[in-house]
Amino acid sequence: MPFPAIERVIKIIDLEASRGHDDRAVMGGLAQMVPSWEAEARQQHVPEATILSVKSSLEGYGDLPSEDRRSRLEALRTDLTGLPEGSAPAAPAAPSPEAPIPTEGQAEAVPKTAADGGTAPKSAGSPPRRTPTQPPPALDAPLTSIPGIGPKSAKTLSRLDLETLGDLLWFLPRRYVDYSELKTINRLWYGEEVTVLGTIDEIQVRTTRGGRMKIVEAVVSDGSGSLRVTWFNQPWIAQQLRPGEAVALSGRVDQYLGRLTMNAPEWEPLDRQQLHTSRIVPIYSLTAGVTARWMRRVMNSVVRRLAPQLPDPLPPDVLQRNDLVPVAEAIEQVHFPDSWEKLRRGQDRLAFEEMLLLQLGVMRQKREWAALKAAAYTVDETWIERFRRGLPYALTAAQNHALEDLRHDLAAGRPMNRLLQGDVGSGKTVVAAAAAGIVVAGGGQVAILAPTSILAEQHHRTLRDLLGAAGDLRPEGIRLLLGATPESEKVEIRQGLGDGSIPIVVGTHALLEEPVQFQRLALAVIDEQHRFGVEQRAALRAKGDNPHLLVMTATPIPRSLALTVFGDLDLTVLDEMPPGRQPIETRVLLPVERSRAYRFVESQIEAEHQAFFIYPLVEESEKVAARAAVEEQSRLQKEVFPGLAVGLLHGRMSGDEKETVMDAFRRGETQILVSTSVVEVGVDVPNATVMLIEGANRFGLAQLHQFRGRVGRGEHPSYCLLIPDADNETENERLRAMESTGDGFKLAEMDLEQRGPGEFLGSRQSGFADLQMARLTDVRLIERARREASRLLDADPGLELPEHAALRRTLQAFTLTEKGDIS
Ligand code: ADP
Ligand code: MG
Repeated sequence: MPFPAIERVIKIIDLEASRGHDDRAVMGGLAQMVPSWEAEARQQHVPEATILSVKSSLEGYGDLPSEDRRSRLEALRTDLTGLPEGSAPAAPAAPSPEAPIPTEGQAEAVPKTAADGGTAPKSAGSPPRRTPTQPPPALDAPLTSIPGIGPKSAKTLSRLDLETLGDLLWFLPRRYVDYSELKTINRLWYGEEVTVLGTIDEIQVRTTRGGRMKIVEAVVSDGSGSLRVTWFNQPWIAQQLRPGEAVALSGRVDQYLGRLTMNAPEWEPLDRQQLHTSRIVPIYSLTAGVTARWMRRVMNSVVRRLAPQLPDPLPPDVLQRNDLVPVAEAIEQVHFPDSWEKLRRGQDRLAFEEMLLLQLGVMRQKREWAALKAAAYTVDETWIERFRRGLPYALTAAQNHALEDLRHDLAAGRPMNRLLQGDVGSGKTVVAAAAAGIVVAGGGQVAILAPTSILAEQHHRTLRDLLGAAGDLRPEGIRLLLGATPESEKVEIRQGLGDGSIPIVVGTHALLEEPVQFQRLALAVIDEQHRFGVEQRAALRAKGDNPHLLVMTATPIPRSLALTVFGDLDLTVLDEMPPGRQPIETRVLLPVERSRAYRFVESQIEAEHQAFFIYPLVEESEKVAARAAVEEQSRLQKEVFPGLAVGLLHGRMSGDEKETVMDAFRRGETQILVSTSVVEVGVDVPNATVMLIEGANRFGLAQLHQFRGRVGRGEHPSYCLLIPDADNETENERLRAMESTGDGFKLAEMDLEQRGPGEFLGSRQSGFADLQMARLTDVRLIERARREASRLLDADPGLELPEHAALRRTLQAFTLTEKGDIS
């Protein structure tokens, strides 16, 4: 079906049929949807004749007798699809007729709209005759299909990203206030939050002396006593609450001149459903033009009519095994809880569902990959021995284990999907080099993707060294492709990759460009994976036929994330450092101690060492950070270290410029390198012994740890100096974790706790940060959901059983919005 607008009409026709044509499939009557639908249809370029047919069928629909309504919609449906609705199998009856819908203002019972009120014979009494395929509730209906939300309110709500009824259902309260405690006036205490039920004795509006403010003053009594109540600048309350009226008031008890009072309490006439008082009251995020009361009323009407219709994605046995409430109850309770316990159960259920969907997504991905075929690459023990002998050092035990994992994966005939995680300096590159060597030995090609040209260049050099000695590869067989590579050379490299004469290419984003094609890409290695988005990893993968994939990260991955965000990958951890590494002594300094830090740097440079100075990205802009770095470099060079050479590196320099600067630093021609955070990843300069980080409070611990890993790479004792912007005790406390541990894993866990996963993981997970209820750190929840997900997939890998239909649909929608795909 090419037009969403038409699909929508068909859904509504089916829903309407399931309800026995009571003209309520659309709130306010089917005719109500015509104007907005017409606009939508035009936008989608639905043929004019079809638009006309829909309009003429729906206009005046509410005025028809029920039998005519049915034939009219059937005719329209056939017109739109060629299929009469009755061709679908039967499903359970639709829910009972709705309660009236409240609107803003006085009476909350809304006047009937012209379409379904008045003279038309009502069909509400006739039982639903037919029930087509379980109609999806009109969740995608626009907000204006609820009486009480006009185009203007809809526009206001769209500022909260609320476009459809479904959006509203999932617009969950930010928090709750507990007004469920009822008290008589004679037992009130100052300061408590309570609800009082009483009668208005007096009420009047007074204007303050300046005439600026209108104060409504009321006296409310309940037989036990009386209470003075005031509201500021809401004079209409005096119109709506008349003397003698029974009222519920909720708020904090205050006092004035020795008497107990309430200022600006929530209020509500007692003869209505209590939404704002006498209960646990939901607090929603608001935007200009939306009041809390209006929002609650709208939410209540949407939840009451739509929640019971929600198909439950979780089958009954899943609910039972995991002690969960059905989705309808969960949604109702999360919006309008009857008790804290029921709220908790509702939240629990929604969180479980979210986590289950996430787990189903990653597990299904993993199973799908495992079912694919890929070329197998094997080498014998002699090859491995020769590789080891060609290295300038002995591999650590952890590196040997990792090498075994990769060897096994590459030989398995299925595409490898492995995440190699190891703290900065743990030696991941040599492991990747070995994998590359194995693949090339078997006649495959290898692409290695790095986030910066500095790093790509460094890998290129390392691979030439390692594989030249250990893997018999000629230097010409390993090429470097950067954005800045001259066009003629690019052409030549592309040619070589296309005809297979170049077995290994190292590069940056330039590798991903369209014209780069491989004869036989068999292994894709992605270094510092958090710097790349899902699309980029997919683009590289797409250049081969199920290539093996190795992603590498220096960010230690807490277990909870390994099971969620990275749940589709196999994990190898390098949990051991090459020998001889010195712990890096770390100090948090006050801004006033900066000159001491400079003197210390000087002493290190006198001892023939070098230093990095890092400046943070202020205001999320590399441009601004670059300027700060430029200014600092010139200040340091002129005023602080006139006798030394101070280099400068930032993200707005060209690849060549960066290269020149890095080379000068590597060769020791500059002693201090001032840089923005571009230096974060991978750079290896063994002679650097000081890492000084300005604005350290702006970085996460995991990232600081990455910076720190740039030093201490040689045999000299090394230092990391953290200088926060301001002397803030809490911040300094956080930073002090860097002094006490060099364990990247611990720091990552702390970071995850303190800053949340979005911050922690970078672009890969933008979607994961959107989880509403589930916390990505809740290991217990993750494990429960995992067990259930694998049970479901074992029994029904494609979720094709009828009892999993709703789950499958929800998963599809979830995967679309959450970008569940990894790598
Ligand atoms: P990272 O895991 O951070 O990418 P690298 O692969 O860049 O680490 O390695 C860091 C440094 O450690 C490099 O200089 C590398 O030559 C060295 N190295 C790697 N493995 C060993 C080892 N087994 N013994 C000694 N040095 C090693
Ligand atoms: Mg590295």
